[in-house]
Amino acid sequence: MAEQCAAVPFADLSIQWQAIRERALPDLLKLFESSEYCLGSWVSAFERDFAQYVGSRHAVAVNSGTSALHLALLAAGIGPGDRVILPSHTFVATLWAVLYVGAEPILCDIDPRTGTMDVEDARRRMLPGCKAIMPVHLYGQPVDMQAVLALAQEKGLLIIEDVAQAHGARFAGRSVGSIGSYGCFSFYPGKNLGAAGEGGMVVTEDGQAAEKMRALRNHGQYQRWIHQELGYNYRMEGIQGLILGHKLPLLPGWTDERRRIAKRYEEGLADLPLLLPRVLNHDHVFHLYVIRTPQREGLRRYLEERLIQTGIHYPIPVHRQPCYTQLQLRLDAEYPQTDLFTEQCLSLPLFVGMSDAQIERVVAAIRDYFAEGSRE
Ligand SMILES: *Cc1c(COP(=O)(O)O)cnc(C)c1O
Repeated sequence: MAEQCAAVPFADLSIQWQAIRERALPDLLKLFESSEYCLGSWVSAFERDFAQYVGSRHAVAVNSGTSALHLALLAAGIGPGDRVILPSHTFVATLWAVLYVGAEPILCDIDPRTGTMDVEDARRRMLPGCKAIMPVHLYGQPVDMQAVLALAQEKGLLIIEDVAQAHGARFAGRSVGSIGSYGCFSFYPGKNLGAAGEGGMVVTEDGQAAEKMRALRNHGQYQRWIHQELGYNYRMEGIQGLILGHKLPLLPGWTDERRRIAKRYEEGLADLPLLLPRVLNHDHVFHLYVIRTPQREGLRRYLEERLIQTGIHYPIPVHRQPCYTQLQLRLDAEYPQTDLFTEQCLSLPLFVGMSDAQIERVVAAIRDYFAEGSRE
C-alpha cells in the first residue's frame, strides 16, 4: 500500500552517485590534495577513455555541451555568410552554436515517427551557402546517418553531430558522434552520462582541429601566455573529469537498463491509443521515453495527481521561441510536424535505478487514464 502512494520522480540521479561513491571518494580526496581543479590529469585520462569508447581519434573536454557545439563550428571554419541546417525540434543550444559563430541557421522539419531530423526535408530546404548539417540524435535515437552522409556528400556539407542525448548509440555499427566530422556531447547531470555539474566533449578524427579546439577552450593558447587567436574559457573542471571517468565504465550497463525500462513501457502500453517511440535506426539509448497523444494535457494532469512526474521535451519549438523573432531570423517557413509533435509529446519517468514497482505504477496509471475515458 505504501508503494502505491509513493511518488515516481521524473529522474533520480542519486543512484548513479551511489554506484561510484566508494571508488570515487578516495580519488576526490587526491584531487583536492593535488589542486588539479581545471583540466589536469583526470580530465586527460577521461578524454582518452571517452575517445576510445566512441571510437574517435581525438576527444577535447569542455565545460558544457553548448561549448562543445560552439568549438566544433569554430574549428570547422563556419562563420558569417555561411548557412547551417539543423532541425527545428531540438534543445535550443544547437541553434545557439550557429548564432555564436555568426552563421545563419536554416531549420528543417522532423520525421513524425521519431522526432528526429527529416533528412529529405533538409534537402528540400537547402539554400546556397549552406556549409554544414547538424543532425541531433534526439531522445537517444540516431538520425538516419546514411541519408545524412549522402546529402552531405552531394551538397559538400560538413557534418556536426549533436550527441548530447545519445552517448553510446550506434548507427550501422558505428557510435554516433564518430560518423560526422565532429561529435558534440553534453555531460549535464541529467544526460545518459552526467557530471557533478556541467561538462561537454567534442570528438573528431582531425588532429589539427583537435589542437585548435584545445587552444580555443583555453584562451586561444597553443603555447602558454601566447594568445594566438580569440579564445574562450571552456575548460573542463578536474572534478568533472574524475566523476565522468568513474561513471564511463558503468555506462553500457546503464544503457541496457534504460532499454529494459523502455521495453517494459512498450509491453505495458502497446494496446493503448498512444504513439509509442518508434525505433527505426538500429539503436536507441533512451535518454528520454517520449510518447504522443492528442490528450497530452489531460494525461499529464492525471499522472501528476497520482504523484507521477512527467516532462515535455520541448514545449516550445525553436522557431516559436521569442528569441527567434528578437534575433530577426527568417520566419518564412513552417514546420508542421514539429508543431504537432510539440503539442502531443510527453516524456515518461526513466532513470537508472528505477524500480519495477515504479515502472508498473506508471504503466497502471496510464492504463487507468484511458480506461476511464478521455478527460481532457
Ligand atoms: C543538453 C543538450 C545540449 C546542451 O548541452 P549543455 O551541456 O546543457 O550545454 C545541446 N543539445 C541537446 C540536444 C541537448 O539535449
